[in-house]
Amino acid sequence: MKNKRHNQKPQHKGAVYCSAWCRHGCRWSEFKKAEAFAAKLAKSLGRGWTPHVWENMGWHWRVEYGTLCAVYPRSDGYRKFWIDVHVGGRQICLDAKNIASGIRAAISAAKDQAARTMADADKLAKAVA
Ligand SMILES: [Zn+2]
Repeated sequence: MKNKRHNQKPQHKGAVYCSAWCRHGCRWSEFKKAEAFAAKLAKSLGRGWTPHVWENMGWHWRVEYGTLCAVYPRSDGYRKFWIDVHVGGRQICLDAKNIASGIRAAISAAKDQAARTMADADKLAKAVA
């Protein structure tokens, strides 16, 4: 059952921009910073990347490429990122200072896992041939 309170929009009162369900006292400046950074990063990554901003005891953001990849800021001031890649039913997560190289590392790890899966499957197939 979905909590109806989560459908309430945040209220902007002075420096506070927070929802009744949250009551954390989230800041308008945090919202604007998250919104601006996510939009800037999505634009810099190129077509297909979309910014997402949400409230949950503070304002948070991520940038997504469909269901294949999500990039989150680390809590240490947007200088490092959490890369969450979903390919072929696999999830690869890692920290990266550079988003593109982080994504490439995640893709490489996913391909390594896929190769190991194929090798194991081939080995097992020979056992029952
Ligand atoms: Zn809030």
